[in-house]
This record gives sequence, structure tokens and C-alpha cells, in this order.
Amino acid sequence: MIYTDQYQAYLDNPEQYWAEQATALAWFKQPETFLQPTGNGTYCWYPDGELNMSYLALDYQIEQGRGDQVALYYDSPVTDTKEAITFSQMHERVVRFAGALKKLNVGKGDTVVIYMPMIPEAAVAMLACARLGAVHSVVFGGFAANELALRIDDAEPKLILTASCGIEFDKKIAYKPLVDKAVSLARHKPAHTIVCQRPMLKAEMDPARDIDWYEMQQGVEPADCVPVKGSDPLYILYTSGTTGQPKGIVRDTGGYAVALKYALHNVYGMKAGDVWWGASDIGWVVGHSFIVYGPLMGGCSAIFFEGKPVRTPDAGTFWRVISEYGVNSMFCAPTAFRAIRKEDPSGDLARQYDLNSLRWIFVAGEKLDSSTYYWLDDLLQVPVLDHWWQTESGWPMTAPMMGWDQPSAPRLGSTNRPIPGYDIRVLDGDGTELEPMQSGNICVKLPMPPGFAWSIWRNDERFTSSYLTAFPGYYHTGDGGYKDEDGYIYITGRTDDVINVSGHRLSTGEMEEVVSAHAAVAECAVIGVTDELRGQVPVGLVVLKAGVEADEAQLERELVEMVRDQVGALACFRRVIVVQRLPKTRSGKILRAVLRKIAASESYKMPSTIDDESILPEIETYLKRAGFIGA
Ligand code: AMP
Repeated sequence: MIYTDQYQAYLDNPEQYWAEQATALAWFKQPETFLQPTGNGTYCWYPDGELNMSYLALDYQIEQGRGDQVALYYDSPVTDTKEAITFSQMHERVVRFAGALKKLNVGKGDTVVIYMPMIPEAAVAMLACARLGAVHSVVFGGFAANELALRIDDAEPKLILTASCGIEFDKKIAYKPLVDKAVSLARHKPAHTIVCQRPMLKAEMDPARDIDWYEMQQGVEPADCVPVKGSDPLYILYTSGTTGQPKGIVRDTGGYAVALKYALHNVYGMKAGDVWWGASDIGWVVGHSFIVYGPLMGGCSAIFFEGKPVRTPDAGTFWRVISEYGVNSMFCAPTAFRAIRKEDPSGDLARQYDLNSLRWIFVAGEKLDSSTYYWLDDLLQVPVLDHWWQTESGWPMTAPMMGWDQPSAPRLGSTNRPIPGYDIRVLDGDGTELEPMQSGNICVKLPMPPGFAWSIWRNDERFTSSYLTAFPGYYHTGDGGYKDEDGYIYITGRTDDVINVSGHRLSTGEMEEVVSAHAAVAECAVIGVTDELRGQVPVGLVVLKAGVEADEAQLERELVEMVRDQVGALACFRRVIVVQRLPKTRSGKILRAVLRKIAASESYKMPSTIDDESILPEIETYLKRAGFIGA
């Protein structure tokens, strides 16, 4: 297959293109309707088809003769554990766990929050929910109790599934007290907390509410797959928006199943029997799409890794995993490779392993800087392929198509060309389409392809206002960038108040809410500054209340602690600068867009609405003095 032909076939008739792709799936009932408007400006695919994700990921694979093939290689250098779980074994675990959930009255449409480390039980939990038609919402284990409570209140789960602890390098992080605190903070009280006790740290249980993971499975009937409609939700995944309230992105089942199968084979070039590694965490969209559902649905063996790129035990871990399991391809955020390179700049550790199984590697989640690209390319001697997507899309939007005879060739600095399904346009602020090489807002012409989210949990209106209102007829990605003459897309960064720390999307607004709550702070702006290792890190610009004399170092310590406690360590909020004043419009709004430009050392136009122009050079001086931007 040839990229240009396929892309044209999609443009000519999107509905027919995706109707054909849907035939690759083992539906219980074939869809008769392919594309349907939802009424809130979005579209859903295959609404009347019937299927079950757990069936596609497990039962169907066993029916195809893959029962004895490894489904998951659990590799945990932090606990010194390795386990190869076959499709049949995974199936056995999932049907039993689903049976136990069913006994606790979890059924179709119920929500379940999963707050777990990277242990196979977490994948079992996701697949068990899917089996019952229940909607899971996985919350990344690095989020603090307050953040978990926000998600509990929004998702209103029947149950919370957790483990006694997660492990960060050599530190055990007790999860259960954190979940208890979140439940006590939340208005909504789930009926039970199900706890998987890990041997290295036992959680204290409240017999009135807590249930042991394994005890609850004793003597239960295995649960069968519940057929769900194509338009029924599979999961909710919260992501940062521009306010403190995270957005519950809802993923449907039919469109998602078609998109994942398509992406695994066509984008990533994986075949059944291949070994695939999505080096991320189940708490993120990559974890859903390409650690659990995608690879299993495509009949691959997936690596399920509990560790870090460095210090677990060293910066050779990734290379060891690739060589030990014969990984054919992987996905990773560039930040992981920057961390490895920092520890092992000459790549000596990589040379200790046989990496011949590797065909190519994919990177995404944040900008791939050229020096990391060259380092990796040189070291691995396989294609290093940048591609671009986001939580909302659920699968890539631009990428080379490695499953095809003539993929779209990579170009340094570009995340490649649009995948069939995505008609990507660059628009100026007024919605006029820009010429090649002109920077603007990256938008996608509606309808979005299968798999793309089309609602926010119980808040369709927020979906419309967040994504569809700024540019009528288009989905607004929130990213800025441009296209070249050949249609290659270049992503330059976010155009809203979302920053990307180590590939994790975080809302600066959320951190501002925490910082503003400090007694000494009158107002603040949190902005992202460039960081060599993490891509971006947040910095708080803080104005003190009149008459308050604060010791800056002490204030910084307190604010850092508050953000760590209320947002989580993953925010990497470590620096605070006390400033005299912040740039504002005449109506009193902080001019965040221009602050972002200053922090990125980009040129900016003086906003016409600015109240006092002299504040901008003042902020620049503060940032230069602190070493965040060049002198
Ligand atoms: P998330 O929803 O957490 O996956 O974050 C999505 C955001 O990460 C996108 O909107 C982009 O801002 C950024 N992003 C993802 N992939 C890339 C990439 N390959 N290059 C540059 N930025 C990226």
C-alpha cells in the first residue's frame, strides 16, 4: 500500500474508507450505520455494531490459536519479578476477576476507578471491566489524593480498585492511605475499595469497606462477555484542560476498536506474533491504547514494564528489555531517552545488548529535539519515527505508515503527514487557512475518524466549548504549528495553558489554584519554561500580598510542598520567583499567552489590550536572572 493512494481514498470517501477498515474486526453484530452525527456537533462511528473489547483482546485471540502465545511479559526490575502470561492465562484471570466484580453488582454502564501501579492485575482489571461493559477510569498512580478525589466525584465509580503500593526507584509509595484520603475528600463514596496486597507493603484494611483482591475471587463464577454497542463507552480518561477541573475524555468502543487495530498494523507495522513495547503507564492514553488493548487485539505479545529508564537498576534497562524479549518495535516519549543519554552519553550500555530484533522505534508525547534524535539514530541504527497524537484522539494523528510498502518518509522536526482519517489544516486566529510554512492553530476538519473522543463525561457542552467552538467545522487541537509544502506537520507547542512535563500533560491553571491558596500570595501565574531533561517544567511567578515580607526561599519550599501534596510529584513544580506585578489586560486578566512566548524566548507582539507595557521587560529580566531564558 502506498501512503498517497490511501490518503486520497480516505479523502474521497471517509465513510467508505472506514466501513472497509471495520471488516477487520470480529463484531458480534456487524454495524449497519457507519457515521452518525451525535447532536453536539461531533460524530460517532459504528453506533449499532455490537462487540466486546475483552473478547477481541483475549477470547478471539485464543480462537485464532494464540492461547499459548505470551500476551504480557511483566518485567519489573523494581521488584525483581518477571512473568510471562499467555493469552489463555490472561483470559482465565480476567474471567475470574470479572466474575468477582459482577458479584459486587458491577454491570454494563457502571463506572470503576482504577488507581494502580504497573502490575498485571491492573491490565486484568481493565479487561474485566470491559468484559462486563463497565466503564473504567484509570488514574495515574502519581496523582495526589486531591486529584484522585476530583476524578472520583466526576466519574462516580461503584468501586475503586487499587494496590497496597507502587514503587518509584527504591521507594515504596503506599497507595491505600492515599485512596482512603481521596475517598474522604470526595463527595461521592464508592461502595468498596478493592485492594491488591503486594508483598513488599501490606495495606491496612477497613473490614467495613475494603475487600481483598484475591479473596473476593474465591469460588466466583467466571464472567462471560457482555455485548456492547459501538457507541457505548469503554473508558473515561481524565486529562488536563486549561482549568483546575480535569476533562473526562470518553472513549467509545466500536470506533476505538477499529482505530486501534488499524493503527497497530498500519501505523506501527506490527503483525500478530510480534513483540511490542509501549513504554508508558496505564494511567496515560498510550497505556490504554498501546500497552493493553491495541497489542492484545492485534495478537502481539506486549511488554508490561514496571520501572524507569534509569536507575532500575541502571540506564541499560531499556536495552536489556528489548534484547531479552526480542522487542520488534516500541513507543516511548523522548524524555526517557534524554534521561538514558544523560547517564550513558556514549551509549556503552546499549552496546552490551543484542538489539537486532528492533525494526524501528516510535516517539511521541512531546517534541523530539534534534540532538536526542541524532543520538538515538546513531546508536540504534534503526528508523526513529516521530508521530503525534493526544488523549482526545486515542491513536496517532500524524505518522509514517510502517505497515505499508511505501510509508511516508520521516522528516526531521516534523511529526510526519496526516494519517487517513485526519484532514489537518493550519488556521489563523480568524479561522482562515494559512499557506504552507505559516504558523497557526493546528485543527482537524470534522468529522473526526473512528476512535476519536466525541464527548466529555456527562458534559457534552464542555466538549463543544473546548474543542469545536473556536473554529466552527473543525476540531481545535490546542497545538500550534505549521505544514510544509508536502503536507508534513510541524508541532511547535501548545497554544493554551497546558504544559508538557516529561511527556505528561499538566494544567498550569491547576497549579495556580494551589499556589494562590498560600496566605502570602496575592496572585500568581504558573508558566512552563524549557528544561533539558523534561522538555518543560513549571515555574511560579508570584506577587505577594501588600505588606507581606516573605523569605523567598522559605516561600518556595512551602509552595513546592503544597503543589506536590495537592497535584502530585509528577508536576515537577520546584521553582518560584517573587515578582512585583504581572502583565494584565485593562480588564484585569493576566496575559498568559504573552508570558508563554517570553518563557519560550519567542518574539511577541505587544498585546493591544495590555494595561502597562513596561511589565513585560520586567518579567523577562526576572526569568533571565533566574536562568530560565537566555541572557
Ligand atoms: P497527551 O494528551 O497527554 O497525550 O498530550 C498531548 C499533547 O502532547 C499534544 O497536544 C502535543 O502538545 C504534545 N505532543 C504529543 N506528541 C507530540 C510530538 N510528537 N511532538 C510534539 N508534541 C507532541
